[in-house]
Order: sequence, then structure tokens, then C-alpha cells
Amino acid sequence: MRLVLLGPPGAGKGTQAQLLKQTFAIPHISTGDLLRQAVKEETNLGKQARAYMDKGELVPDELVTAMVAERLQHPDCASGFLLDGFPRSIAQADALADELTRSGKRLDGVMSIMVPRADLIERLSGRRVCRECGTMYHERFDPPKRAGVCDKCQGVLYQRSDDNAETVSARLVVYERSTAPLLSYYGDRELLYEIDGRGMPEEVGQRITAALNTVPATHRS
Ligand code: AMP
Repeated sequence: MRLVLLGPPGAGKGTQAQLLKQTFAIPHISTGDLLRQAVKEETNLGKQARAYMDKGELVPDELVTAMVAERLQHPDCASGFLLDGFPRSIAQADALADELTRSGKRLDGVMSIMVPRADLIERLSGRRVCRECGTMYHERFDPPKRAGVCDKCQGVLYQRSDDNAETVSARLVVYERSTAPLLSYYGDRELLYEIDGRGMPEEVGQRITAALNTVPATHRS
């Protein structure tokens, strides 16, 4: 399966990716995670990306598309992948299409996870992430057993620096301006599946699985 998870920040792309990667045994490629890792390691890419990320803006297309093109060459992507947070602009979607065409492949589907704006803000402001294993929690909806400590690995939980109110608003504006046009881009290509992202992660996961079952056989890889 070659899938894209599309949706505004806070829609639950990362959470759903964790569920789907187990079902399909395909790698989860989160451009946000790759960029945060580059920032942490202070690579050239990380140094260039940091300022954009801190402001909630998109990192320039050419940097992100080169990063993704390189990642898609890894052997674990041979039988499919799950892209989370990419593409985020029409230019990125075109670059992905070119990259896949070059290797004789195509996308199977784009799952667009839709959540009302008020819920997004509530989800993002309460989100906490494990510094060690990346597991996500929510202060109110999905708290860890011990405050500030990951249930799975005992790692310390932190709030992403771009999950503060000001940066969240900026990220939502960027989504509307640059990423929402992808809905009609993929709709026109008959690749778009609209998923109601409200409710518990398991319910949303079931909706995605149901949508995947309707992917035409000719589209499945
Ligand atoms: P995320 O973890 O997906 O919310 O991404 C966090 C931040 O990383 C975004 O606000 C952007 O600054 C940057 N980023 C992640 N993916 C992309 C992308 N496909 N294009 C440009 N910037 C990105």
C-alpha cells in the first residue's frame, strides 16, 4: 500500500499512522519527525528548517521533497509506505507524483482526516509527546498513568515547541492556504477518501480501514 495521510495539524495523522503501519507492515514516514530529528542533530537541513518550524511555516518545498525522495529509496519502502505530513503543497504533490512515476509506481489512496477547528486547537494544546519513543498523549483525553511520564518506556513527556497557541494558529492558516488545495488535487485524480476524524482513535482507524476496503483493486499495490 502506498498511502498519504492528509489533514490539518491535530487531525490525528500520527496516531492513525501508528495503527496503520502495524496492519500493513509498511514504514511510517512523517516529515515532521524527520525534520525534528534533523533539527536535533543540527544537520544542514535541520539548521535551515528550524526557523520555519518555530514559526509554524512550511519548510521550503525543495528541502522537503529532496528529503522525502531520499527516504523513499530505502529498501523498506519497496512494498509500500505511509506518508504523514507530506505532501503539504501542490508543488510537493507534483514532486511526489514525478518521483513515483519515475519508479513505475503510483499512490493507492489519500486519506483526508477531517476534524472541526475547535477540536484541533483543543487536541494540540493538550498534546504531550514522549521524548524517547514518540508516543503521544493528551493531558485530558488520553493522560499517562503517571503525570509527565510515558506508560510504555518511562520516558519524559514534553510539549512540542510549535504546539503553543500562537504557532498553532499560524499552522492552521498555513494548512488552509497551502495544504487544503490538495483536497481537490487528489479528488480530481480519484485518490481522495474523506474520513471523519472525530471520536476515539480506534473509531477513526475503523473508518480508514473501511475506506481502504473500497480502494479499487486496480489501484492497490
Ligand atoms: P508536523 O509534525 O507534521 O506537524 O510538522 C511540524 C512542522 O514541520 C511543520 O509545521 C512544518 O514547519 C514542518 N513540516 C513538516 N512537514 C512538512 C512538509 N511536507 N513541508 C514543509 N514543511 C513541513
